[in-house]
Formats: sequence, structure tokens, C-alpha cells
Amino acid sequence: MDVEQFRKAGYAAIDRICDYFYSLEKLPVVSKVEPGYLKGLIPAQAPEEGEDFSKVQDDYEKLILPGLTRWQHPSFFAYFPTGCTFEGILADLYSSSVANPGFNWSASPACTELEVITMDWAAKLLGLSPEFYNSSEVGGGVVQTSASDSVLVAVVAARSRYLTAHPETKIEDLVIYSTTQTHSLAKKAAVVLGLGIRSIAVKTEEKFSLRGGELRAALEEDTKLGKKPFIMIATVGSTSSGAVDNIGELGEVLKEHPDVWYHIDAAWAGVALACPEYRESLYLPEINEYATSFCTNFHKWGLVNFDFSAMWVRDRKLLTAALDVTPLYLRTKQGDEGTAIDYRNWHLGLGRKFRSLKLWFVLRSYGVSGFQNHIRKGIEMNNLFVNLLSESKTLELVTEPSLALTVFRVVPPSAEKYTLEEINGLNSQFFKTMSVRDDIMITQTNLNGVICIRFAVGSARTEEVHIRQGYGVIEREGAATVDTWLRART
Ligand SMILES: *Cc1c(COP(=O)(O)O)cnc(C)c1O
Repeated sequence: MDVEQFRKAGYAAIDRICDYFYSLEKLPVVSKVEPGYLKGLIPAQAPEEGEDFSKVQDDYEKLILPGLTRWQHPSFFAYFPTGCTFEGILADLYSSSVANPGFNWSASPACTELEVITMDWAAKLLGLSPEFYNSSEVGGGVVQTSASDSVLVAVVAARSRYLTAHPETKIEDLVIYSTTQTHSLAKKAAVVLGLGIRSIAVKTEEKFSLRGGELRAALEEDTKLGKKPFIMIATVGSTSSGAVDNIGELGEVLKEHPDVWYHIDAAWAGVALACPEYRESLYLPEINEYATSFCTNFHKWGLVNFDFSAMWVRDRKLLTAALDVTPLYLRTKQGDEGTAIDYRNWHLGLGRKFRSLKLWFVLRSYGVSGFQNHIRKGIEMNNLFVNLLSESKTLELVTEPSLALTVFRVVPPSAEKYTLEEINGLNSQFFKTMSVRDDIMITQTNLNGVICIRFAVGSARTEEVHIRQGYGVIEREGAATVDTWLRART
């Protein structure tokens, strides 16, 4: 393809993408293809001779689109939303057009410098302390691919700091601290690095939030056994239920254990800090006071297209001390002189995508107020869902709604007559019924043994009508499942 052919194909691609967005609402949310569906449709080998590109674009529409789950659909309420804005799409296009691995400042000065500046924009947007700004020249922000990557970086740096302070430590004594509600990223980090992990139990009556006393007890117990806890991964907005650990209490306990790194995973909920009215309940002052590192994904609820995980550290040297490996071919004048950031020393890989362009485009286009409106709208939509649910005889909340997430379950009349297992069975049956539908998508979870359903709002296209429709479907299917379930028992 030459430049002029690209111009033509590019215009055609934008046209097709626009058509896709126009048709989105009429399309099913859930793809109905069976595993292996593509095998018979695409040859097992690349073509010997190049093909006409319009044919390739046709096949994308014919073969690939039907196999996609439509995360941008207004009736997508599964997992968490994923950001998709036209600004983000355009930024990806520009970034791709200058394909640039940007690992050192000198590998492309603009990539580093835009990231340095826009990560400060993001820190200010969320109300993070100036200690986390790149302009502090002590702390700083870096774009990682995912929250899992951010945790991996934090664990590697925490381990390095701990081993430097206590060189006699046996690796097998090191323990990562998390809770039973921590995202699987903690276990993944433990597996990848071959480290021990402890998942501290959290209580239903504490709304699945870890309290200081529980952390203190675990630390005392493990320390007595000669174990070496070296990082605590706390969560602001858990994946299952949006639970928020008591960041202040944990911070106070960890003050007595200054060798323990305090990472805060706010992958989903962190972007809500953009709205001042949520800062207290999400523990912003405590994050600013205690956190060693903090992470939130702009690619979830934060309007930036996948992938964009924002990570901040209070002391950038903790990252570079662990991750700076500089062979001669990566040495540069600016790196040696310390006049520029070389982001390759702040993450696991070497090359990195030019992701800051996406944040820059989005924040300039929406402005702080547009960003806040988007977050507030998601919460408002979820509140509508909760209001509708409060009238229901079939559905009940399992825990308090969190921002734009509601966790509920189906209950039979006189629910007290049935065991938890029986009601769990009813909910599994309900979820199966919902999973057959392609006009709405939700997910299930298990909270301390209770099987429940998650309803996550936040897609930019979801309006009141979609919440009402979605609620209607859930309520009707719930009531029908209860009927079938009761009949099967008599
Ligand atoms: C989604 C989520 C993650 C995982 O995010 P990735 O970027 O896919 O690794 C981690 N923690 C929480 C609380 C999440 O909601």
C-alpha cells in the first residue's frame, strides 16, 4: 500500500467505523459464535501473494466483527466498562503512524516529555499529592499497560528495597500481602516472581473492606513465624463488589513497618477521584499520606482506549534502583547526565507504546469538567438501577452499591426458609438464563460464599433507557427463574 492507497483505505476505514457506531445499538451485545468458529473461515496459511486491501476490510466486517463482544454497547453491564472515545481512537492512529518504541528520552523526546506532563495532568485531575508529580523530580507517574503490570512493577521494586535493607533475607520467607477480595493480579505476581502470598480474610459485615486490626494481627502472626511481609496490596474499589479497604487504618499499621511497601490498586474506581465529592469515601487524603505507589486504569472508566494503566510512585528511585539495567547500547548523554527520564527503567519491558497521546487528546477534548460529567453520569445511571431494584420483590442487594457498580441476587418469597446453598443454586440458574440472552451482558461473582450478580455501569453510551430496559429484563428473568425453581421443588 502506498501513501495514496492508504489515504483511500483510511477514509474507507473511518467510514466503516462510523457505520459500526451507528449500528451498535441494534447489534447484539454478546457474540454468539462457537469456539473454533474462525477456523473454517480463514485459511490456515498466509496468502502466497498479497491481496487487495478492500477484500481484507470486507473480511474484517464479515468474519471478525460477529466474533466480538461489544463492550461499547449501551447494554454492556459485564466486568467493568472499557474506555472507547473517538479521541482515543485518533490518538492510537497517530501513535501507530509514528510507530515508536520510546524507551529512552532520546529514542523520541516527545514520547517521554508528553508522558511526563500528562501524567502530572492526571495526578492533578485525581487530586494526588504533588509528591507524586513528575515535576517534583522525586516521585512521578508512568503509563503501564495494565494494573497487573503496575502491581508486578511495585512488587519487584518492593522486593528490591526490602532485600537491600535486609540482605540476609531468604527469598522463600518473603510474603506479598493481599486480601481475599484483591484482584487476581496479586496471585499472578506471586506466581510470576515465585514469592509467597497471604490473602487476609475480609468480613461481609465490614463490606469486604480490610481493617487495620486484621492487618496488624496478620503481620504479628507472620513476623513470629519468621516470615517477611514486604508489600501490602490494598484495593480501592474491588472487582467483585467495589469494596474499599480502610486505607487510613492500614496506613497507620504500616507506619510501624516502614519496610513494607504500600501499593494501592484502584484500577477501576480510581478515576472517580476526579470528582471531589468522592474523594473522602475513596480515601484520597489517606492515599496521599501513606501510599508508596498508586494505580488506576484510565482504560476502564476513564475514557481512554485500552491500554492505559496510570501508576504513580512517591519515590522514583525505588523503581529505577530495581529496574535500571543499562548496557552500553542503551547509554545516552541525557541518561548519564540525569537530565531526562528514561521510562524503560520504570517498567518491565524495554520498548513502550506512545500511550500518553491518548490521555492528552482525551483530557484536552473533554476537559476536567467533561471527565467529571462522565463519571457522575455513570454513578447516576447506577443509582437509577438501584432505585428500580429497591422496589423489587425478587431482587435484593448483596452489599451496598459502590459508585457505578451494583451487586445483587435473586431471592425467592420467604427466603428465610431456604439454605444458602439452595439460594446460590437459584442464582446460578438465573445467571445461566441471563447468559443465553444476547441483548444484555452481566457477570456473576461470589462474595464470601454468596453467589451474586454484578451490574457495572459506565459505558459512555449508556442512557436512562438502557438502564430501564436492562432492569426490566433482569427483573422478568429473575421472577421467571424463581417460578421455575419453586415448581421444580414441589
Ligand atoms: C480490572 C481490575 C484489575 C485488572 O486490571 P488489568 O489492567 O486488566 O490488569 C485489577 N484490579 C482491579 C481492582 C480491577 O478492577
